Amino acid sequence: MDVPLVLTQFLDRAVSLYGDKKAIICDERVFTYKELNDRVNGLSDGLRKLGVKKGDRVAYLAPNTVEMLEGFYGVFQLGAVMVPLNIRLRPDDYLFILNHSESKVLFVDQELYHLIQPIKDKLDTIEKIIIHYHDGVSGEINYDEWLREQSSEPFDREPLDEQDISSLLYTSGTTGNPKGVMLTHRNNYLHALSSMHHLRVSDEDVLVHVLPMFHVNGWGSPFYYTANGATQICLRKAAPEFIFDAINKHKVTVMHMAPTVLNSLLQYYEKNVPDLHENIRVVIAGSAPPPAFVTRVEKELGWEFIQVYGMTESSPLSTISVVRSHLKGLPQNEQYRMKAKAGVQMIGSEVKVVNDLGVAVACNGKEIGEVVVRGNGVMKGYWKNDEATMETIRNGWLHTGDMANVDEYGNIEIVDRKKDVIISGGENISSIEVEGVLYEHPSVLEAAVIAVPHEKWGETPHAYVVLREGEQVTEEELIRFSRENLAHFKAITGVTFVTELPKTASGKIQKVQLRNEYWEAVGKSGRFV
Ligand code: ATP
Ligand code: MG
Repeated sequence: MDVPLVLTQFLDRAVSLYGDKKAIICDERVFTYKELNDRVNGLSDGLRKLGVKKGDRVAYLAPNTVEMLEGFYGVFQLGAVMVPLNIRLRPDDYLFILNHSESKVLFVDQELYHLIQPIKDKLDTIEKIIIHYHDGVSGEINYDEWLREQSSEPFDREPLDEQDISSLLYTSGTTGNPKGVMLTHRNNYLHALSSMHHLRVSDEDVLVHVLPMFHVNGWGSPFYYTANGATQICLRKAAPEFIFDAINKHKVTVMHMAPTVLNSLLQYYEKNVPDLHENIRVVIAGSAPPPAFVTRVEKELGWEFIQVYGMTESSPLSTISVVRSHLKGLPQNEQYRMKAKAGVQMIGSEVKVVNDLGVAVACNGKEIGEVVVRGNGVMKGYWKNDEATMETIRNGWLHTGDMANVDEYGNIEIVDRKKDVIISGGENISSIEVEGVLYEHPSVLEAAVIAVPHEKWGETPHAYVVLREGEQVTEEELIRFSRENLAHFKAITGVTFVTELPKTASGKIQKVQLRNEYWEAVGKSGRFV
């Protein structure tokens, strides 16, 4: 008989094979897989008593905690749908998402409750608010007390089909309003199988959750580390000192993170040179890590670096940068360059780069097209937005809106989001490529390159730069540096020095915000505004 590919199996496997092993370490609390499962059963029992039924949405607003992680399995046992909320939004955004998703119950971490309080009366469908880390003053249900009242006996589960929706994930909103991505159990299950294979996940792994679990990258990983009986460490705040502390204390072996967080780890390492636990076997990053990071991680920290590429709409991962064994004879620098690309398709995904006519681009590292993806991870669609679904999934292919080339070895290199490409004098310029060069400059800590209006060329690249502490450099010097290292038409023509760049909660730089501010300030309405 076919066994449906549903996510509850992952925790079942861990409980039966690794019941007494450390599953989660959160603050000073340690939970075995059996203890985690008891909590999950209690949560499902409590939710059923509150009237949550199959298909109902249950929302979570929480940092990385055991309360957040157990939420996934507790919600799935009921056949209900998890709606994890980004913790860095504004109250109005929560109002939109909670009403749009028609969520019935909301779990909120006490620290974040102030974001919900102002909109509480306008929530149309929320029936109960339950508080994690309740400090006694909010007036809502105290999670710990509530959970203690529930039964931890094995839960009488709702029958689940692999095509049932497991989660509704609102995209990062890097380019506009977030959209609700419907992922099924099958999507997440097969994505987890593929990821655990490619990332060589085992029961010896100790993962520190650096990426937020409310984000698709962060919440996909608990499935494959749980299924393999690994130990997972939850950090409420992913500051470098906490990460290094966890690395040493718990002998961490693997971390997934955004390049901006990796950057702050590298900075912290440079300044403090903490004792690094040599157990770390790999660091995984998506979201366009600059090539300079690859060499620094591998050479200075001695950790293997893997780049992955994906998006919420594809569960998320579709490609992985690995140097296949038959290419290991290439010079080291060439191998680093290869690792700095998005790489090749993962098992279960078909990935192509196609031109406007839908024809695959030549494998010459030059021709640019759009990345399209088909396969196990591709979402069911956008929640209550058929129009956007039809625009995005055409002829069975997910159109990512990301532009890329393919090199002679078949490696995909993301050059830019369509919306971020700078069009100067009819030439397309990759903002990622220009940023990559700026990151090579010793004074530059962070860089974001955007298109700004230019009388002659239409648009021109302009950099927003955060300097390293104590460093000083002029605009002219950075312009000169970029001209020395890039074709002249790609070089930046101006710099705005800032102390901070706007970022999404998952650590991505929000270039759309920089563009809007710049274009508005110069009184122009660009194609982005
Ligand atoms: P929104 O769709 O709401 O604007 P978003 O696209 O940032 O937000 P996500 O689904 O979190 O939301 O991010 C996916 C995007 O991140 C991809 O489409 C791509 O632009 C970018 N990305 C992910 N991995 C990489 C990578 N390895 N290299 C370059 N870009 C990447
Ligand atoms: Mg997107």
